[in-house]
Amino acid sequence: MASSNVQAPKGTVDMLPATARVWEHLQRVAQKMFSLYGYEPVYTPIFEHTDVFVRGIGEATDIVGKEMYTFLDKGNPPRSLTLRPEGTASIVRAALEHGLTANGQGAKLYYAGPMFRYERPQAGRQRQFWQIGVEALGMAEASADAEVIALLVRFFEATGIPHDRMRLLINSMGDDVCRPDYRAKIAAYIHAHASVLCEECGRRAETNPLRAFDCKNPGCHSVMASAPLLRDELCDECATHYGAVKAYLDHLGIAYEEDPSLVRGLDYYTRTVFEVQASGLGAQNAIGGGGRYDRLMEQYGGAPTPGLGWAVGFERILLALKAAGIEVPVRPVAEVFVARAVPEVAGDAFLITDSLRRAGVAAEIDHQARSLKSQFKSADRLGARFVVVVGPDEIATGQVTVRDMTAGTESRVEIRDLDTTIIDRLRG
Ligand SMILES: [Zn+2]
Ligand SMILES: [Zn+2]
Repeated sequence: MASSNVQAPKGTVDMLPATARVWEHLQRVAQKMFSLYGYEPVYTPIFEHTDVFVRGIGEATDIVGKEMYTFLDKGNPPRSLTLRPEGTASIVRAALEHGLTANGQGAKLYYAGPMFRYERPQAGRQRQFWQIGVEALGMAEASADAEVIALLVRFFEATGIPHDRMRLLINSMGDDVCRPDYRAKIAAYIHAHASVLCEECGRRAETNPLRAFDCKNPGCHSVMASAPLLRDELCDECATHYGAVKAYLDHLGIAYEEDPSLVRGLDYYTRTVFEVQASGLGAQNAIGGGGRYDRLMEQYGGAPTPGLGWAVGFERILLALKAAGIEVPVRPVAEVFVARAVPEVAGDAFLITDSLRRAGVAAEIDHQARSLKSQFKSADRLGARFVVVVGPDEIATGQVTVRDMTAGTESRVEIRDLDTTIIDRLRG
């Protein structure tokens, strides 16, 4: 049996073809949807200077405090590098470094790839996990918030998750004008209820009081349910912005629920935050979310530049699709299998296969000298709709036998018409 050093590290999984094809399918769905909204792809390094995440995400967060994969490289002196635990910090760093939002222009970017967090592995949560996300930089208006939220909802719809199994939650986290006062209020509230809150929440009063709303401890949850709400403490500008976001969503007919306790874990969020939850996933039911981060660019030393975005987790979408009983449509490995009756026609069969492939048909052929019966089994396993049988008679008459594996019927087709006939039958 395999010893431990030939197994994938704890908290990681090999994305084998059956799953990897679904991941590629979701990326295609995303690309198609994102392009309708004006987003362009961007690829940033998988690791960054550690400081990018410490400054961007915030020292008091679980991610920076406990979950980052940080290492020293071999430089002299060695530099501290970190595997990216999320996408936004890297994208904002890249946008600043390359001036993508210079002169007040906006940038709409999307990414897809692995993220890394040292967490306790559980269903739908791995230490290397896969995310797709968007970032809209340079746009301050509430219509941008509504557009980004609409894109999230419509992306999920396009993946096949039924409307009635999703809930969209929204909230406003205020800004530098109103949030400091509110944070102080929550810190005071935590102190006043310290005896009934968990120790962690007690510490949060000093570091990141709003995180107490996220505490998984049921006792904390019920105490925090009575805490003052930021919704009631927003400054005029934040209240106006939040009202406008809701009005735009109403306008688009996108249903949402206001959740004043939705604060999302990262320090960089300002104003609008949102989350989509899917039913059938238990307590860990968030499948995607994001928000506005108008101060993040400044934290890297850039000019004040508004921004907002969201990320969705591949593993969680898979769970949501499974819970909804949705099969992701993936093309079969082979649409056509070209079987040869005898080895002597291998060259002809090879040529027919090549011609089908060049015509855009996924065609497969045997390379293992299998019997005709075994070749039919392979065709079945690969999901081929048609098997083209090539033998000496076929070559002599210029006609091959085409078996429709679904209908169980057979027909003779002129070799020179084979490509178009197959395409008509497959796509017709
Ligand atoms: Zn707590
Ligand atoms: Zn405000």
